[in-house]
Amino acid sequence: MAGVGSSAAAAQDFSRAGSVLSRLARDSRRAGNITHVEHVPARRGQAVPWPEWADPVLVGRLRAAGVEQPWAHQAEAAQAAHEGRDVVLATGTASGKSVGYLLPVLSRLLAEPGARAIYLAPTKALAHDQLRSVRSLRLTGIRASTYDGDTPGSEREWVRAHATFVLTNPDMLHRGILPGHRRWAPFLRGLRYVIIDECHGYRGVFGAHVALIMRRLRRVCARYGSRPVFVLASATVADPGMSASRLTGVDVEVVDTDASPRGPMDFALYEPPLLGAGSRQPSPPAVGSTAAGSGEGGPDLPVPRGENDAPVRRAATAESADLLADLVADGTRTLVFVRSRRAAEVVAAAARRGLGEVSPDLASRVAAYRAGYLAEERRDLESRLRTGELLGVAATPALELGVDISGLDATVIAGFPGTLASLWQQAGRAGRAGQGALAVLVARDDPLDTYLVHHPEAVFGRSVEASVFDPDNLYVLMPHLECAASELPLAEDDLALFGPGARAAVDDLVRRGRLRRRPAGWFWTQRHRPDVDIRGAGGPPVRIVEAGTGRLLGTEDAATAHSTVHQGAVYVHQGATFIVAELDLEDAVAFVEAASPDWTTVAREHTDIRVVESTRAARFGAVEIHFGTVEVTHQVTGFQRRRLATGEVFGREPLDLPPRHLRTRAVWYTVTDDLLAAAGIESADVPGAVHAAEHAAIGLLPLFATCDRWDIGGVSTALHPDTGLTSVFVYDGHAGGAGFAERGFERVAEWLGATRDAVAACECPAGCPSCVQSPKCGNGNEPLAKAAAVRLLDALLAAVDGGRQKTLESRQE
Ligand SMILES: [Zn+2]
Ligand SMILES: [Zn+2]
Repeated sequence: MAGVGSSAAAAQDFSRAGSVLSRLARDSRRAGNITHVEHVPARRGQAVPWPEWADPVLVGRLRAAGVEQPWAHQAEAAQAAHEGRDVVLATGTASGKSVGYLLPVLSRLLAEPGARAIYLAPTKALAHDQLRSVRSLRLTGIRASTYDGDTPGSEREWVRAHATFVLTNPDMLHRGILPGHRRWAPFLRGLRYVIIDECHGYRGVFGAHVALIMRRLRRVCARYGSRPVFVLASATVADPGMSASRLTGVDVEVVDTDASPRGPMDFALYEPPLLGAGSRQPSPPAVGSTAAGSGEGGPDLPVPRGENDAPVRRAATAESADLLADLVADGTRTLVFVRSRRAAEVVAAAARRGLGEVSPDLASRVAAYRAGYLAEERRDLESRLRTGELLGVAATPALELGVDISGLDATVIAGFPGTLASLWQQAGRAGRAGQGALAVLVARDDPLDTYLVHHPEAVFGRSVEASVFDPDNLYVLMPHLECAASELPLAEDDLALFGPGARAAVDDLVRRGRLRRRPAGWFWTQRHRPDVDIRGAGGPPVRIVEAGTGRLLGTEDAATAHSTVHQGAVYVHQGATFIVAELDLEDAVAFVEAASPDWTTVAREHTDIRVVESTRAARFGAVEIHFGTVEVTHQVTGFQRRRLATGEVFGREPLDLPPRHLRTRAVWYTVTDDLLAAAGIESADVPGAVHAAEHAAIGLLPLFATCDRWDIGGVSTALHPDTGLTSVFVYDGHAGGAGFAERGFERVAEWLGATRDAVAACECPAGCPSCVQSPKCGNGNEPLAKAAAVRLLDALLAAVDGGRQKTLESRQE
């Protein structure tokens, strides 16, 4: 069953992965691209006896499913949960976390007829997989059912009345179960356990929403006299107890010593060459390799260049397709992780083409796997992988979660997946029953990936990042207080549950007529339910509609629509190209027409930032670092047309769009003119230096806060009116903040140190997408001064290092 770890003894067969890797390293074409190989040693498993309280039938079924005895971490978490303590189990992929929570929860449901449990997964697919696992145990005393958007109305009533184990997601809890709690009263009265699986996925604004949903659930349960125990399962993250406690609002015990056995793994870091760089140009291809779909410059093709004629690296997907073909040609069962559905298809097709030249039979044994496949298609694929009929699969991260595939030899990860937790989760997919495995991280052309492949200690030597989110964000808190009041009037005693900002937020909602104070508490005044989109990013999304047919192609976040679907923008949807004929802001709809231009468009944007308040600050001589509230004003002022083939800009058009305002949190630093002069930065270079340092800092923050570079923004200026100094701001891209900028403030020395190293490590002459260019620059990546940025960061870091003892002053409020 999925997730229930195999207890087969670790056979230390390391031959396959080892030989494949050494062959790759010997391959002259690749030798220079492998920047590091980490040997991750094998680990022996530590099994312990089943706890005495465990239901004997359940134990028998788990044994039949291959779990002879629990590993120590499973038993420890199970014991805590059994004794009523909230617990988070944070161990690696395939460490059998599900036994850790199913053992206490199912035992309790079997022992107490009125007992109920909820299982929460971030996706419907994972909840359905989990349901299959539970059903495969054939426990007649457990009535398990999923409850989500796909559950037919006729079944919902049965679930409420009879199910003892409900598998659902935070969205359904928020929209269905909590608002309809009266119908769920018997269920909630008996609720003994809440399992939160894959809890490290709840981060950023979404994490804050889920944290508040958990507080609403606790409040409603308390009203029905129950106090469920929280059992959380997490990938390995930094400080899992802190994240779990923030998510649930209760103190959570941590079990994070993984006692499952693991085979040894060779983990290679791989950096594709700069195209046209000469020294590392691909030499004649090795067996089964291919240049197809690679976009690389052959002898008679122009070498692609980036913006402002910057050199670019060969795409991670093209390099991964070659690796896939080579590994499959070697008989190595390989999984390639890519980020998008389209990339999965492209990588599989390129590998098939490459293999087709060598062996058509091998080509037919490579497939794509992506989100959106039906459950039967997925199971078919999984079983063909298991039997070895399929040798190579290119997959989106849908395969990262809860899917039952084992028997893989190698994983190739095309681009850092955003968090170290995901990286290890993906790498952990390889390794058959204790055999040796190979993992390769192929860097994409951006500063974070560049940094990682040149700093193995950031991947292997340190604890992974913390899951960052901020449940005190007023923009998230307020609507959940409205939801809570509409579920049950809010009492004075309830406010503590919602954090220190709750009182002021409630008063504000009363002033605005959203809540009304009565002797029994605060009441929701409207007829309709409060409207909260827990996965949205503020404002209604803009619909993309084909003008001729009225067909809805997709939606675009309100926050990004101005720059992506303005009039004249080229819009790509599933490989088809359109041009935006009209952006109607009032109705939030963009009308597009099919076209096949040989150009693309890039919006020009003007961004201003105003300091509202600095709430935390530290001064290090000539350098100040701040965290606080800012108001960001964006205005898309025009766009450029660029040739697809050459990147050449051949047209500029103005646009008349209104400014957009965002009140959010930012981290910023200021430096004095003296420091700039001492660092040898001429005043003409200052704008380029701070702009380059800002881009790279945005690229590296995801290493410290679990965000994506698209979740944050930045502004740099040689002279800022509010600070009176040269200033660089990095802000959370969501109203009210998401916790990312605050994390940057707290880890500023490490963050800016990594930023400096990423820029310095890149071998390009004057800036490229791997270091200081940003794909989302509203200023066309101009001006950028790479060398001056390194000098600026060196001077800044020296000041921070030297000034730590003397002048640190913190005004935390
Ligand atoms: Zn570069
Ligand atoms: Zn920029």
